[in-house]
Amino acid sequence: MPPGPLLDTLARPLGNLRLSVTDRCNLRCGYCMPEDDYTWLPREDVLHFEEISALVDIFIALGVDRLRLTGGEPLVRRDLPALVRMLAAKPGLADLALTTNGVLLADQADALRAAGLRRITVSLDTLRADRFRALTRFDELAAVHAGIESAHRLFGRIKIDTVVIKGVNDDELVDLIEYGKGVDAEVRFIEYMDVGGATRWSTADVVSRSEMLDLLSRRYGAIEAVAHQSSATADRFRLADGTVFGIISSTTAPFCQSCDRSRLTADGLWYLCLYAAAGTDLRGPLRRGVDAEELAALIASRWKTRDDRGAERRLELGDRRSFVPINALRKDPHLEMHTRGG
Ligand code: SAM
Ligand code: SF4
Ligand code: SF4
Repeated sequence: MPPGPLLDTLARPLGNLRLSVTDRCNLRCGYCMPEDDYTWLPREDVLHFEEISALVDIFIALGVDRLRLTGGEPLVRRDLPALVRMLAAKPGLADLALTTNGVLLADQADALRAAGLRRITVSLDTLRADRFRALTRFDELAAVHAGIESAHRLFGRIKIDTVVIKGVNDDELVDLIEYGKGVDAEVRFIEYMDVGGATRWSTADVVSRSEMLDLLSRRYGAIEAVAHQSSATADRFRLADGTVFGIISSTTAPFCQSCDRSRLTADGLWYLCLYAAAGTDLRGPLRRGVDAEELAALIASRWKTRDDRGAERRLELGDRRSFVPINALRKDPHLEMHTRGG
C-alpha cells in the first residue's frame, strides 16, 4: 500500500471504478450499438464473481471507494444480486451504484436492494413509445417505466440519464424534467459523445450544455448553478421551484482534469480512460495465480503514468468524426462503449 493517495501524472487520485459485468445488451440504442451485428467477448473470458471480488479488493486497497456496475446491460448478467451482495459487504466501499437501461429492473429491484445496492441510475432518452422504439429498436418503454417506479419505491431518490441528440429528443427536455419531478428522480442530460460505438456521431447532432440551458430557461426562467463537487461528472443546476437537474458536458466542456475514474471490462481489461486505445489485462495474471500484491503493483504502476485526457484531446481536434471507425470496432470489441461500460 502506498503512503498517501495514489496519484497519476495530473495529480488525479484513483477513486472511482466502473465495472462492466457484461458486454451484452437487450437494447440497441442508436448512439451506442447502432450496427446489426457485434463481436462479443468470449464467454470463457468473462470474469466470475469471485474474480471480480478479488480485483475489487485490490482496487479498494489502492484507493477506490466508489464503484458503479454497468455494462452492456448489467441486469442481463445472471444472478447479479449475488455479485452486489459480495461487493456491498466490502467496508472500503463508500458508494456502490448501478447504471441500467431499466428494462429488467422491475423484476430485480427487490433482490438488488436486499443484496445491499443503495443507488440506481436509469438511462431513459424519451417518454414517447414510438420514439423509444426508434431509438432502441425495442418496444420496452413500459418496462422501463415499471423499473423506474420499482426503483423509486425501494431506493428513494434515483437518477435518470438522458443522452440528448439534436432533432431526436431535444424537444423533450422539459417533459423529462417534469417526469423526474413525478418519480423523485434527478434528471441528468448527457451531451452526445463520439465514443467507440457511436458510429453515426457527428458534431451537428450534439446539443451543447449552453443550448440545453437556453432551451430550459425559455420554459423555467432563471436557472441557478449549484456548487460543484470536485470529481463529479455532472454540472448541477436548480430551477426556481427548487428542482435540481444535471448536465454532463463531456463533449463541449470535458472534465478530464478532475477525472478519478477507470474502467474494468467484463473480461478483466482495465482502461484508464473512456477513449484509451488499449487497456491492461488483469484477467491473465489473476488466472495465472499472480498474487494480490503483484497485481496491486501492476495497477499502481499504470495509474502513476496515467496522462489520459481523452475528451479534452477530442475537443482540441478541428474536424471531428466518430472516434473509432467501424472496421476497427469489429476487430476489437474492447473499443466499444458497450464493452467499456460508458
Ligand atoms: N446499458 C446501461 C444503460 O444504458 O444505462 C449501462 C451501460 S451504458 C453504455 C452507460 C451509459 O452510457 C448510458 O447512460 C448511455 O446513455 C451512455 N452512452 C452510451 N453511448 C453514449 C454516447 N454516444 N454519448 C453519450 N452517452 C452515451
Ligand atoms: Fe445497451 Fe446501454 Fe448501450 Fe443502450 S446505452 S445499447 S442500453 S449498453
Ligand atoms: Fe476521464 Fe478520459 Fe472521460 Fe476525460 S475522457 S473524463 S480522462 S475517462
